[in-house]
Amino acid sequence: MSRYFNQRFSTLIPYVPGEQPQDIQYIKLNTNESPFPPSPGVLKAVSSEVDKLQLYSDPTCRQLAEKLAELYGVKPSQVILTNGSDEALYFAFLAFADKDKPLVFPEITYGFYSVFADLCGIPYKTVCLQDDYTILPSDFIPQDGARQTVVIANPNAPTGLCLTLSEIESILQANQENLVIVDEAYIDFGGESAVSLIERYDNLLVTQTFSKSRSMAGARLGFAIGNEALISDMHTIRYSTNPYNVNRMTLSAGYAALVENEYYMSNCKEIVRVRDNTKKSLENRGFDVLSSSTNFLFARSNEICGEELYSKLKEKGILVRHFNKERIKDFIRVTIGTEEQMNCFLSAIDSILGKEGN
Ligand SMILES: *Cc1c(COP(=O)(O)O)cnc(C)c1O
Repeated sequence: MSRYFNQRFSTLIPYVPGEQPQDIQYIKLNTNESPFPPSPGVLKAVSSEVDKLQLYSDPTCRQLAEKLAELYGVKPSQVILTNGSDEALYFAFLAFADKDKPLVFPEITYGFYSVFADLCGIPYKTVCLQDDYTILPSDFIPQDGARQTVVIANPNAPTGLCLTLSEIESILQANQENLVIVDEAYIDFGGESAVSLIERYDNLLVTQTFSKSRSMAGARLGFAIGNEALISDMHTIRYSTNPYNVNRMTLSAGYAALVENEYYMSNCKEIVRVRDNTKKSLENRGFDVLSSSTNFLFARSNEICGEELYSKLKEKGILVRHFNKERIKDFIRVTIGTEEQMNCFLSAIDSILGKEGN
């Protein structure tokens, strides 16, 4: 730490992203990327922008906002584009949470929530998951009418479990004075989107991303949908930090991806099919696997601890994610790749557990 670093950040513990090794070729099942490349139109769209890189991108993101609005059945003024959905979450925390409206989120969830909260100096409270790792919606009812800002990943990560739309609605109803942010990074793999509720609940903000279901993690594109006033506040924060937050190539790629949306939705179906087969295969090998509405599985073996399994898989060239957190330390989180990749993963498991030839 330099002697110039602000005191208020001296205890900040930054988010640790999943490994992105640049040395050997791993089968990468650790950061929930899509195993499928972007569609052909995206490649063309990106190259068509390269000779215009001397020009700033459109700060209003008009074309893409209109296209998204059309696809999701909302108005362009109810959409904001961001540099990954991480940025949408960051803008929302800055815009809407504060000391008198602290953040509330599940104890086991996306690690960035607590990091952003600390960065912004916003206090937060965590809500315990049930024994089966589910979220109990009534835990988000504010105590004695206290103000709070709710954040829920639905489906949740890294558990993969999701709440029903009516459970989300019960949280919205109990929090009419409070903003409820629903992070739908994985919604295209299962669960029902809360976007359909934005006209009825002005306290709802939904965030989504092109990183997982639309094969664009490296392009950094996310968005939030909510009522016009909320989105307008988010734009105030955006124009006050980084008006050109989405670059020219990504804007163009995002538009092309929506034109070819069918391709991505059929990839999602394939991932769901492979996910469900992989879950059965792991269960046949004695694993306890949480029910998944996402593009990953959260699984534990009673024969080997999570950290050891992670290391042994890595030695075999397969990267998965392990979280060093007491309640989930027995688990590994495995991104669903292609059928072929998952077969390699299962063979590696067999060899690690000494079950070859079964
Ligand atoms: C991956 C992920 C995000 C954000 O990813 P971006 O690449 O920034 O869009 C947000 N929330 C959850 C729960 C995620 O897993």
